[in-house]
Amino acid sequence: MKIVKNKMTKNLEIVYGNNRYDLWDALQDITSGEYAESGYEVPKGKICVLFGNWNTGKTVKNILDACDIPYTEKREEALSKELEKKFELEWYDEWASCGNCDKYVRTNASSLNWTPSYVLTKCGITCRHCVKDYTDDILDEFINNPRKAWQLEESFLEDEGFTLLDEIYESKNVMPEQILKRLQDEYKDSDFVFCKHSTGMFNVQFKVFMKARN
Ligand SMILES: [Zn+2]
Repeated sequence: MKIVKNKMTKNLEIVYGNNRYDLWDALQDITSGEYAESGYEVPKGKICVLFGNWNTGKTVKNILDACDIPYTEKREEALSKELEKKFELEWYDEWASCGNCDKYVRTNASSLNWTPSYVLTKCGITCRHCVKDYTDDILDEFINNPRKAWQLEESFLEDEGFTLLDEIYESKNVMPEQILKRLQDEYKDSDFVFCKHSTGMFNVQFKVFMKARN
């Protein structure tokens, strides 16, 4: 069993014996896409990323079903190998797509030091590449909001005229609400954005960016 490109139609097909099946028709519970996640890239030679439930093998069985190829363990194994060779395979419940460009970002931490490559607002998920096109609107939800911390590059805030205050706060010592109130009392005509500095097992460090209101 092979996955090949049909030279005439340019479609990807599963070739089994003398029969050919359109791969995209067969991928019923699977979505395909590209990465917007920092540090991720589809390796050279692979077509794209497929997001599915790979645990039970059900996904591969469904593809065989959709092609009317009778199930055997050997055929399942052959198709699994083909999918692994041609695609990056990811878990559908650990990723979500950007509302703007449709590229995919992790929504589950992959390690303790992982930080999201997206911003979540009331409009949904915006990936780090698309944030710069909507920074104004997105920042509106973060400004003077002690319940939301900026987790993308700090350069986004600097580009919008915010400057970093010196102090680093520990979540175990002080509530962001208290810090915001203190800062607003001290700098009456300024706006503030909280920003995550680091995450430990039991503690989060954060800092604050400030911008004078016009
Ligand atoms: Zn995007």
